[in-house]
Amino acid sequence: VEAIGTPDRAVVTTCAYCGVGCTFRAELRGEQLVRMVPWKEGKANRGHSCVKGRFAWGYANHAERILNPMIRESIDQPWREVSWAEAIGRVASEFRRIQAEHGRRAVGGITSSRCTNEETYLVQKLIRQGFGNNNVDTCARVCHSPTGYGLKTTFGTSAGTQDFDSVMAADVMMVIGANPTDGHPVFASRMKQRLRQGARLIVVDPRRTDLVRSAHIEADHHLPLQPGTNVALLTAMAHVVVTEGLVDEDYVRARCDLEAFAEWAAFVAEEARSPEATEALTRVPAADLRAAARLYATGGRAAIYYGLGVTEHSQGSSTVIAIANLAMATGNVGLEGAGVNPLRGQNNVQGACDMGSFPHEYSGYRHVADAETRALFEAAWGVELDPEPGLRIPNMLDAATEGRFRALYVQGEDILQSDPNTQHVAAGLAAMECVVVQDLFLNETANYAHVFLPGSTFLEKDGTFTNAERRIQRVRRVMEPKNGLADWEIVQAVAQALDLDWNYAHPSEIMDEIARLTPTFARVSYDALEAHGSLQWPATDATPTGTPTMHLDGFVRGKGHFVVTDYIPTDEKTGPRYPLLLTTGRILSHYNVGAQTRRTENVAWHPEDRLEIHPSDAENRGLRDGDWVTLKSRAGETTLRALVTERVAPGVVYTTFHHPVTQANVITTDYSDWATNCPEYKVTAVQVSASNGP
Ligand code: SF4
Repeated sequence: VEAIGTPDRAVVTTCAYCGVGCTFRAELRGEQLVRMVPWKEGKANRGHSCVKGRFAWGYANHAERILNPMIRESIDQPWREVSWAEAIGRVASEFRRIQAEHGRRAVGGITSSRCTNEETYLVQKLIRQGFGNNNVDTCARVCHSPTGYGLKTTFGTSAGTQDFDSVMAADVMMVIGANPTDGHPVFASRMKQRLRQGARLIVVDPRRTDLVRSAHIEADHHLPLQPGTNVALLTAMAHVVVTEGLVDEDYVRARCDLEAFAEWAAFVAEEARSPEATEALTRVPAADLRAAARLYATGGRAAIYYGLGVTEHSQGSSTVIAIANLAMATGNVGLEGAGVNPLRGQNNVQGACDMGSFPHEYSGYRHVADAETRALFEAAWGVELDPEPGLRIPNMLDAATEGRFRALYVQGEDILQSDPNTQHVAAGLAAMECVVVQDLFLNETANYAHVFLPGSTFLEKDGTFTNAERRIQRVRRVMEPKNGLADWEIVQAVAQALDLDWNYAHPSEIMDEIARLTPTFARVSYDALEAHGSLQWPATDATPTGTPTMHLDGFVRGKGHFVVTDYIPTDEKTGPRYPLLLTTGRILSHYNVGAQTRRTENVAWHPEDRLEIHPSDAENRGLRDGDWVTLKSRAGETTLRALVTERVAPGVVYTTFHHPVTQANVITTDYSDWATNCPEYKVTAVQVSASNGP
């Protein structure tokens, strides 16, 4: 501020990092952004923020940002700067050529949870309307796709059931596979505020996170389970609930499918699923697990918060279902202070899923095979649409190596760094004839691109994000796009070059179309957002600002649906060669693959990823804190430095994935969730040995 001077204007906008969705006043002097001030009126943050959000504009001016479109004939040639018209024309002509030569299913698109609702909607529309296939996917594939499957199956819709405020009415919190202090810092502060008032806490995590014990906070129970045993642990908790008579029978009788409940209750009651029988598997003492289950079932209003430690497993969808089963059996869904809440890692995971960017669903979670829904979109878009689900990201890559998929449009996502088994991703990209990357920087995926379309930052465009509590908030243009076009304008230009009749003058018109075609967004408009500040979908005549607590008078699907979840061990096994289990996570100062936070000054960021290893495992290998180690799995190997700590249990190691040099996904395998293909990032058998460094 001293260097630039006092701000003379301000624009309220929404943070583009995590799913908390803090709002800020971006204060400017002239065209120069001076500072980001957390906005007191922001319903998600109420004047608070974390270190990432406060310095969120640094990367916008970074020297490595690409501001001009570029093309090249092949990936071994240098990039050539071209006009927007030439770059857009190349995308359209290549996609049409490939469609003509290899069929309409040979092309597809990937959008991102970092983009606005409007941009995401446009990418799926571009593929569906422009090419008549459903080959569209989003990076939610690799994080919360099991949430989509699990919550839709049990409750009827893929969304957290509570708003953030209602944590203040929770008597018990159960945090599973999430580290809110680092991943969702502002909401973590709300949780801690409630805990200091006396709420009870159960933490289920292989790692001793900050919530287990920190200043003024100590969990009542920490269940440090073996990675990959979530379903066994949750089923054992359900066993306690059912066999000790802790089921909320009135709730189940009134609100759930009784036949499915009876089948589930008989299944979990079997002795083989008791805490004692599963103790050797989960490595959680049976007495602790029983006590935690009793607390969850009888401690009052109980809220479950979960993260990627639940979803990124071969049984990710089963784990989400097991959580939902437990919550329904104890009457903990559909009332303030109680519920099931996925903590979304990125700013717009909820929105990306809501907008129909999955290959089997239109916006509002309606299946592409549903004739009535298809007819609605066909009438609106003037084309015949494909009733068959399209390819998911891993299937696109498989199809590319088999010659069935040849052109990919990637908006705001670095699949080479963020998706599992880097070698597999690289092989798929290398096999394609046209890869288009729309991003701020020449990311790792761009190494395989033929066209690079420079993207705009969240400060340079209008739009909306939807946070983890279904709250739709405005993103407002703070400054002109340095690249000349906002991202939605780039997608529109591609559509026009493909002869599609798109003429949106402003993102508000895109939202109007979304609202017309999507029942859950029926009352959403930019005017309504201006009037109310934000909206939590669904909004109705009776609740014009939206719905803080879902399933109040019954589940969206009608009766809550219990599903038997049998524990099936992952195929990823430890053994003499790979004796340790690697799991992964985030740190406070970095965001995902670090493309933005590594290029932002003033953040107290860590310069490297480290490998957390228990002192006994370090000693067995002659390692000391700070030593270089080689981390090797069946998929690949990398080198990083050791952090010797008791935060991890013996037999478990942990690292973050923020730095491309670490290439953590060289290590991860391509095992994935049985229902959604979400990668199993959280369980990889590895060996660790001393190294001389990279
Ligand atoms: Fe808020 Fe998340 Fe942004 Fe931090 S990163 S300011 S918690 S939205």
